[in-house]
Amino acid sequence: MAHIGFIGLGNMGAPMAANLLKAGHRVTGFDIEPGPAEALAAKGGRSAKSAAEAAAGGEIVITMLPAGPQVRSVYLGERGVLAHTRPGTLFIDCSTIDVDTARVVAAAAKEAGFDMLDAPVSGGVAGAEGASLTFMVGGEAEVFARAQPVLAAMGRTIVHAGPAGNGQAAKICNNMILGVSMIAVCEAFALAERLGLEAQTLFNISSKSSGQCWALTSYCPVPGPVPAAPANRDYAPGFTAAMMLKDLRLAQQAVGATAAATPLGAAAANLYQLFVDGGAGSLDFSGIYRFLHKSQSKI
Ligand code: NAD
Repeated sequence: MAHIGFIGLGNMGAPMAANLLKAGHRVTGFDIEPGPAEALAAKGGRSAKSAAEAAAGGEIVITMLPAGPQVRSVYLGERGVLAHTRPGTLFIDCSTIDVDTARVVAAAAKEAGFDMLDAPVSGGVAGAEGASLTFMVGGEAEVFARAQPVLAAMGRTIVHAGPAGNGQAAKICNNMILGVSMIAVCEAFALAERLGLEAQTLFNISSKSSGQCWALTSYCPVPGPVPAAPANRDYAPGFTAAMMLKDLRLAQQAVGATAAATPLGAAAANLYQLFVDGGAGSLDFSGIYRFLHKSQSKI
C-alpha cells in the first residue's frame, strides 16, 4: 500500500481521498480551507498544513483543484510541490484544466526529475463517492502502468489517452460532444412540442433511431422519459451548467491554439454562457432546455 499526498479536498477530492483510505493506502491531505483535511483525518488519514507538507512523504501525490491557475500555483515556483518533494514521487493531476497548463506542468515535473500524469475524470460526485470514476490519462505508458492500481481504488474505467496533456484533450473533446448534443436534444424536444408531438413519443422513436445519443437516452432534458434524469427534480445537479461552461470554454481555448474548426462547440459555449449569466450556473446543464424552450416561445 502506498503513502499518498492528496491536495484539494473539495466535492470530488474528499470522496476520492476517502476511497484511497478504504483501499488501505495512507493518505495525507491538504486543502486551503481547514475543514476538509480535518474531515479526512477523522476518517483515518492525516491532515497537513501546506501542500508541500502533504506532498513531502508521498510516493504518489494527487491534486484535485478547481482550474489551471491553482494547478500552476501548487506545482510551480519556489513554494511549489515540485521544489519540495523527494525524488521518485509520482504526481497525478486529476483536475480538469487547460491542455497548455497540463503540458507546462508535466514538462516542469520532468525537468525536475519527476514522473507526472494528467488524469481528469468523468462521473461527477456520485462517481467519486462510489469509486466508479472514468480516468482519462495523459503521460508515458510506464508511468500510466505504475499509477493504475491507485487510480483503480477511485475509478472503474481507466484509459491511457497518449502523452502528457492528452487526458485533458480527451476530457474537453468528450464534454464538447456532450454540450453540443444536449443542446441538439433540447432544440428537438422544444420543436416537437410546437409541432404537437409528445415528448414521450419523440423519446420512444429517437431512442431507437439515428438521433439516439447519451444526452437523450440517459439524461433526457425533459421531465418524464428518463426517471433518474435531473429534469425530474427541477434540474438539481448532476453536472452543473457552470461546469459545462468551464469545459466548453477550455475546448475553445484549445481550439485557439490549433485552429481546428468547431463552430458548434463555439455556439454551445456561447449558449451556456448566456444560460449561466442569467443565473442558472448551479442548475444541472440539462436545464438549458428551459432556456431554449423559453427563447423559442419569445420568437
Ligand atoms: P471544488 O471547488 O469542490 O474543490 C476544489 C478544492 O480545491 C476546494 O476544496 C478548494 O478549497 C481547494 N483548493 C483551491 N485552491 C487550492 C490550493 N491552492 N491548494 C489546496 N487546495 C486548494 O471542486 P470539485 O467539484 O471538487 O472539482 C475539482 C476538479 O474536478 C475541477 O477541476 C472540476 O472541473 C473537476 N470535475 C468536477 C466534477 C464535479 O462533478 N464536481 C466532475 C468532473 C470533474
